[in-house]
Amino acid sequence: MAAKRDYYEILGVSRNASQEEIKKAYRRLARKYHPDLNPNNKEAEEKFKEISEAYQVLSDPEKRKLYDQFGHSAFAGAGGGTQQEGFGGFGDFGRMNIDDLLEDLFNFSEFFGGGRRRTYQERKRTYRSEKGEDIYQTVTISLEDAYKGTTLTIEVPRYVLCDKCAGTGQKPGSQPVVCPECGGAGQITYSSGFMHISQTCPRCQGAGYIQESCDACNGRGLVMKTETVKVKIPAGVDNGTKLRVPGKGHSGRFGGSAGDLWIIVNVQPHWLFERKGDNLYVKVNINVAEAVLGTEIEIPTIDGKTEKVKIPEGTQSGQQIRIHGKGMPRLKSSGYGDLVVVVNVVIPSRKELSRKGRKLFEELMKELPKPATRFEKP
Ligand SMILES: [Zn+2]
Ligand SMILES: [Zn+2]
Repeated sequence: MAAKRDYYEILGVSRNASQEEIKKAYRRLARKYHPDLNPNNKEAEEKFKEISEAYQVLSDPEKRKLYDQFGHSAFAGAGGGTQQEGFGGFGDFGRMNIDDLLEDLFNFSEFFGGGRRRTYQERKRTYRSEKGEDIYQTVTISLEDAYKGTTLTIEVPRYVLCDKCAGTGQKPGSQPVVCPECGGAGQITYSSGFMHISQTCPRCQGAGYIQESCDACNGRGLVMKTETVKVKIPAGVDNGTKLRVPGKGHSGRFGGSAGDLWIIVNVQPHWLFERKGDNLYVKVNINVAEAVLGTEIEIPTIDGKTEKVKIPEGTQSGQQIRIHGKGMPRLKSSGYGDLVVVVNVVIPSRKELSRKGRKLFEELMKELPKPATRFEKP
């Protein structure tokens, strides 16, 4: 087993370094070798353990005194390995997460002249975490599908967290450094005469630190990916209906929540039915005799069936007959709209009329009363 290195040497400080110097040295090294910043790097992990161990001894004046007197043997228990009883392991140090380290980076007096600066956590809230944007996608469906409701599988190109950097935007293994542009303030103040103009630092976007960018996402923390999303289209949707699929918009950056996916429905015009709100309209052509004497007609309905409708005697052209509940389902309440049958009386053309037919009309001409009112405002 290799001989243990001297704790002072590990931290790179002199034997008479102050507690403050030891702390700074530890923090600096911890930021460099923290496992979160060096994923899958065994060497860095070992190094991190080593500096943590050295710090745990040297930061404690009692332990430091013992170490100065007896060296490593002061803590050599039965095993004499790295993990002695005296330390009880380095779990706490290992758990110190990247946010705490960055927090520290900004709390360091060595970087700032004085006055209270925003802490990393505050900065993160203010500048960094960004809610993902909403995505709007149009889908086109038939009137039949709008009637029944349907489930669509659509392809949505969206920004998702980058796998390579777990959304941090930071190159794995690289460590953040205080932004040289703003010195960590996140703001740059320009002075011109009496005017002071503060602006978010363009270099670090207000974060106060910069880091080497992840090459998979260029530091954005997000990558574009086309995902398959199943969308339930409820019965009764109309042109322009917006449906929200929560959390299926672009992923947020740096811990921000994802945006929503909005499905904008476009219903194709139907070959037979005209839709007005929840009602459907269909035109029915009847001949003169049917209009005069009345008839019964099978009307096609949107559900693919038919409905028998009685055209009463003496029906005028343009007259409407309502079939209740045979329109579109109501999206926002229960029940259905109506199917409105618009009657159109077709006058036979000369070609269509047989000799006998024409004869009968000539008879009718003599028989029929002239309209009671001849002239009306159209
Ligand atoms: Zn900056
Ligand atoms: Zn990345």
